[in-house]
Amino acid sequence: QFKALVVDKTEESFSVQVKQLALTDLPEGDVLIKVHYSSVNYKDGLASIPEGKIVQTYPFIPGIDLVGVVISSKDFRFKEGDEVIVTSYELGVSHFGGFSEYARVPADWIVPLPKGLSMREAMIYGTAGFTAALAIKRLQENGVQPENGPILVTGATGGAGSIAVAMLSKLKYEVVASTGKTTEHEYLQKIGAKKIIDRNELIPEKIKALGKQNWAGAIDAVGGKTLAYVISTTKYGGSVAAFGLTGGVEIPTTVFPFILRGVNLLGIDSVYCPMDVRVEVWKKMSNEWKPEGLFEQLVNEITLVQLPDTLDKIVKGKVRGRTIVKISK
Ligand code: NAP
Repeated sequence: QFKALVVDKTEESFSVQVKQLALTDLPEGDVLIKVHYSSVNYKDGLASIPEGKIVQTYPFIPGIDLVGVVISSKDFRFKEGDEVIVTSYELGVSHFGGFSEYARVPADWIVPLPKGLSMREAMIYGTAGFTAALAIKRLQENGVQPENGPILVTGATGGAGSIAVAMLSKLKYEVVASTGKTTEHEYLQKIGAKKIIDRNELIPEKIKALGKQNWAGAIDAVGGKTLAYVISTTKYGGSVAAFGLTGGVEIPTTVFPFILRGVNLLGIDSVYCPMDVRVEVWKKMSNEWKPEGLFEQLVNEITLVQLPDTLDKIVKGKVRGRTIVKISK
């Protein structure tokens, strides 16, 4: 018997509760893992509300991130005692996820914990940090260098936003952070933001096709009108890496930033990112990109029983930084 957070939905009711399960309740998979930590992402918030459109069948264990130790493996790549990270693919979406003391997953989803990263640090990153790192990689590949000018990060106090701020600052970029949280300016400065702007400045009544050229690049966790404004205010030849939708899914923009300024809109997907790229990015995250010393500023640690409250807050945009879930020792 072990504990897990179970979301259940019937015609009459919806519940999010810690329950006792047996190993036989877990889905098929090559590798059984004892989960040490999980973390809370926006998608987990959506998986925990009735109208979230993430979970397909109930009862379900959410949690799109986990780190832990292999208990048994049918796959030659992993053996008992290995420390491993599992994120993305179907985890916490259509396959039982990380809010559980045990998980059984396909070996193809597993990244060995890289040297230079503790299990706890891997979850301070989680999918949010991995996605922020992917965005930075794509900006770099498109020529965005620190000397080109400031980089804007939207949704900056969120999980992915916070890691983007900290990592860009570690890489010597000048970071402008946009936030809706007036109480968190000091936090953003501590994690490396040079300038802070109110998120409302990025959603003016009317968005000009071409605005003042402010940013050499941007990382956008918000989408919607915000993304349209960011694109229209990016410098000639600059790039915008977009991965989020907390502010909406439609982008009311024009072709002009693209055809008159050569601005690049870079779509970032963490879920089906190929394994070779995934391993390479985790390696960078554990070495030269690691915002050493800032992790403790970014993290809030909870346990399984505190999860329902945090999941509720993240959907409402009220969580700061990264929340990790201590599952077992
Ligand atoms: P999070 O911790 O909840 O952060 C989201 C932040 O967005 C909030 O903290 C808030 O920041 C801002 N925000 C919330 N509601 C908003 C609104 N109505 N208008 C404008 N800004 C708003 O979430 P996360 O886990 O970092 O994820 C961020 C986004 O990226 C989500 O949409 C998530 O689904 C997406 N994501 C995508 C991928 C991918 O592979 N494409 C991977 C990871 C995450 P401020 O208060 O500071 O403004």
